[in-house]
Amino acid sequence: MKVCKFGGSSVASAAQITKVVDIVLADPERRIVVVSAPGKRDKDDSKVTDLLIECARRGIDGNDVDTAVDAVVGRFRSIQEDLGLPAELVAEIRSELVRRIQADTEHEGKYADAIKAAGEEFAARFVAAAFRARGVDARAVDLREAGMVLSDEFGNARLLDESYASLRSYFSNVSGIAVVPGFFGYTRTGDIATFPRGGSDITGSIVAAAVTAREYENFTDVDSVYPVDPRIVPEINRGIREMTYREMRELSYAGFGVFHDEAIHPAVVAEIPIRIKNTNHPEAEGTRIVAHRRVRHGNVIGVACAEGFCSVHVGKYLMNREIGFGRRLLQIFEEEGVPFDHAPTGVDNISVIVQERFFPTETRERVLERIRDELSPEEVSFEPGQAIMMVVGEGMRYSIGLASRVIGAISDANVNVEMINQGSSEISIMIGIRASDRKRAVRAMYKAFFVEGAQPPPPEPGDL
Ligand code: ASP
Repeated sequence: MKVCKFGGSSVASAAQITKVVDIVLADPERRIVVVSAPGKRDKDDSKVTDLLIECARRGIDGNDVDTAVDAVVGRFRSIQEDLGLPAELVAEIRSELVRRIQADTEHEGKYADAIKAAGEEFAARFVAAAFRARGVDARAVDLREAGMVLSDEFGNARLLDESYASLRSYFSNVSGIAVVPGFFGYTRTGDIATFPRGGSDITGSIVAAAVTAREYENFTDVDSVYPVDPRIVPEINRGIREMTYREMRELSYAGFGVFHDEAIHPAVVAEIPIRIKNTNHPEAEGTRIVAHRRVRHGNVIGVACAEGFCSVHVGKYLMNREIGFGRRLLQIFEEEGVPFDHAPTGVDNISVIVQERFFPTETRERVLERIRDELSPEEVSFEPGQAIMMVVGEGMRYSIGLASRVIGAISDANVNVEMINQGSSEISIMIGIRASDRKRAVRAMYKAFFVEGAQPPPPEPGDL
C-alpha cells in the first residue's frame, strides 16, 4: 500500500483536486490520501490556513469575522460548484467554522488550533466527496476515531507514541479510499492541536509509518529534487532520482527546501521509502528517498548553501594545552541561550559558528565581553554575513581527491574559503564562505559536478 500526501497547491482548486483523484485512481495501491488545506491558486492568492489564522485573530480580538469567514467558505464553495459536489457540504462547513469561532477564547492557542485545523478537515471532506462523485468508495477520516493523539503543545504539537497502534488498527479496517486531513490531531483530553506550519507532511509520514506503507508519496509542485537550487542555476535540467535519508538531512540543513527533514522523521525511522512527485506532472518519476542506495565512488549528489550564519573567532597561544578551554567557551554560548552549529579548531584558535537569528546585537556584545573577561584570549573577533555550503554524497566516503576538486572549483570562481569541515559521517564536506559569494560558489559546484559529463551518472536506482 502507498500513502500519498498532497500539499496545498495540489488541492487549491477543483481542477487540482481532479488531478488528485486521477492520480490516486491510476494506482490501486494508493488507498490512503493525506491532504493539506487549499493553498494559493496563483501568487496573489491566500492560503486557506492564513485566512483561518485571520479568523482566529479576529475572534480573539473580538472583531467582526464575517468577511474572514466568507473568504474561507468562498474558497470551498468554488470547489463545490466547479466539481458539482452536494451544496450541503458548504452549509455544513460554514456552520462548523462559525461554531469554532464562537467558542471560548480563553486559551488562545487551543482556540486558534481548532480554527486552523478546519482547513485540512474541510479539504478532506471535499476531496472524499470528489472521489464519491466519480463513483469511488471514499471517506474523510475522523482523526479522533483513528487515534491521532498529540501533545497539548498547541501550534507545535508532537505525536504521542500510543497513536501508532490505534492508527494501525484503524486503517486495517477501512475500505475504499481513506482521505486523511493533515496538520492536526487530538490531545488526550479531546482538544484539537496542530503541528507546526507545513505539518501535513508530518501527518503523511506518521500514517505511512503506522501502516508500514510500501512507499510514502509526497506530491508537490516540482518534478523532483534538484542537485543545486534551480533559482541559482536555472539551466539545471536533471533531478535526483534516488537519495538517502542522510543525504537529504545534510542537504536540507543548508536550505534544500523540498520538504523539512524533521517533518518526515516517522517515515525515516520506519524506513519507509519516500517519493517526491509532481501533481501537475505525475508521469515524472520524481525523487526517491531511501535508507540505503547503491553509490558510485566519488559521486556528489547535491550541493546546498544557506546564508544567515556568523562566526566568533577566538585565538590564544597554547590554547591546546589549556584543559577546559573549549568547554568554557561553549558554555558561554549555552548560558546566553545561543545554540552553536559548528566549532572548527586550529592549533591556537577556535571559531564558533552560529545562526544570525539566534545572535542579536545585544547577545553578541554580551558573549564577546564574557569571552574576553573569562578566557583572556589574545584575539576575539566577530564575522557577520557567512554562508554554509554542504557538498553531499554517500559516495564521497570512499573517495580520494574530492575535497581538492571542491576547493579547486570554488577558488577558481574567486570565492574565499573561510572554513572547511568534514563531519565524521564523511558523506559531506561543509564549507564556510561569505554570504555574498553564495551564488558564485553554487554555480561553480554546478559546473564542477553537474554539467553533462562532469561525473559518471549514479547507478540505476533500486534496492540493494
Ligand atoms: N495548511 C497548513 C499550513 O499552511 C499545513 C500544511 O499545509 O502542511 O501550514
